[in-house]
Amino acid sequence: MGRDRDGDWDGAPVKNLNWIGGKWAGADGGATFSVRNPATQEEIARVPDCGAAEARRALDAASAAFPAWAALPAIERANILFNVYAQMLGRARELATLLTRENGKPIREALAEIQYAADFVRWSAEEARRVYGETIPASVAGKRHLVLKQPLGVVAAITPWNFPAAMVTRKIAPALAAGCAVVIKPAEQTPLSAFALAELFEEARLPAGVLNVITGNPESIAKEMLAHPKVRKIAFTGSTEVGKLLMRGAADGLKRVSLELGGHAPFIVFADADLDRAADGCVSNKFRNSGQTCICANRVYVQQEVHDAFAKKLVERASALVLGDGLDEKTQVGPMIDESGMKKVIEHVEDARRHGAKILCGGRVKDARWFEPTVMTGVPPEAKVLREETFGPVAPVVAFKTEEEVVRLANDTPYGLAAYFYTKDASRLFRVAEALEYGIIGANDPSPGVPQAPFGGMKESGIGREGGKWGIEEYVEVKHVSIGL
Ligand code: NAP
Repeated sequence: MGRDRDGDWDGAPVKNLNWIGGKWAGADGGATFSVRNPATQEEIARVPDCGAAEARRALDAASAAFPAWAALPAIERANILFNVYAQMLGRARELATLLTRENGKPIREALAEIQYAADFVRWSAEEARRVYGETIPASVAGKRHLVLKQPLGVVAAITPWNFPAAMVTRKIAPALAAGCAVVIKPAEQTPLSAFALAELFEEARLPAGVLNVITGNPESIAKEMLAHPKVRKIAFTGSTEVGKLLMRGAADGLKRVSLELGGHAPFIVFADADLDRAADGCVSNKFRNSGQTCICANRVYVQQEVHDAFAKKLVERASALVLGDGLDEKTQVGPMIDESGMKKVIEHVEDARRHGAKILCGGRVKDARWFEPTVMTGVPPEAKVLREETFGPVAPVVAFKTEEEVVRLANDTPYGLAAYFYTKDASRLFRVAEALEYGIIGANDPSPGVPQAPFGGMKESGIGREGGKWGIEEYVEVKHVSIGL
């Protein structure tokens, strides 16, 4: 399923169905909703519009599949993941094309995302065999204490549209490796990459029901996930607002949660930094995915002495970026995901203008669906762009005087996902890295995310970590077995 006549995903998949209990199916009443290419607005697929009944079926299928999957030797689970990893690399171009068609990001970024997504599958496959237990010295002669690590159970996952493949594998790969069964609901704008990944798991002979993909009404599906007695964990990536709703909902059943939520990243340039390197880093970090990235810079703080010089370098680079359809190899900035995303960016730029900001480049909508890479200075602290997540290609540059001042400004937010700074001073590097209240720090590094390291936020940016040994720990239960001899 899901292939065009050439056996690839270059075109829209022929059938777009949910994968529940090992079967491809539509919504019970046959309802569908539309998936559009953000660059052209062309309808590229219609996918099932499911609700509570189908969600319950998927959760029941996962519950039924869980015990046998959990009982398999870890190496057998890992082998399925290794197979999927190899297929993802072998078919990276097709997967990336599909991803660009539903999300709009430039094909080069889509290829990088597929590699990143596949790396989570490989890391989890490797890690499956290293979920070690422990023995603890006893207090008396006739006892032994063991600590077992066992799979949690059924995991319900919900993912956003900005990384349609990587957000899926970052959850399902460690969960499956640990021995959990999963029901995942991808975002309504970008379900096709999740279907394609499910196909690869089917080809790799993942037992029926171990992974289930469902699309449709988020509230009804989430309600079932929260109510189902077998669901032991809710794994969510998305907005802080929805994350809080899910956490409240999970309280009744005391289900575990891991929440990867919004951010408001400071990007700090000290006067001693290599300004060209910092400007290159700022552009790649800020304008990736048209600024629709949870860890991308939201506030650029530049030390007073180099403020003008740095702003100039940023403007040169930002205004040279090529806007276009992501499928065009030359494109560096794709369209905004949809109208509501565009509306928020316009609102933030207009609000900054009203507060006296000076737009150095960009600041306008282009061809209805693109927003020009924008650099602005003279933005006062009360402007929305310095307080709320813009989720667009807008870089407000703010001058600061001292290290102490900028650390205070950087931490003055409810968010705590990612922060960046550039300096050549080794002592400052440690001081600032330790003082920033963020889960991910890029010190002279604009792209810190790797599968072997923990990814996640402090404060209202979330709870829990994905990636590395921490990622798989989120899917195991720790059990103490006390043995009398
Ligand atoms: P969103 O509106 O919270 O949506 C994310 C997911 O939640 C989608 O699948 C959505 O379904 C679903 N959803 C919406 N309302 C829901 C509800 N009431 N109950 C349960 N599920 C619900 O976020 P978004 O706009 O798609 O994504 C952007 C946000 O994600 C940004 O804040 C960004 O910073 C954050 N993000 C964080 C990370 C991280 O790792 N920390 C990574 C990527 C993105 P529908 O699509 O069907 O509405």
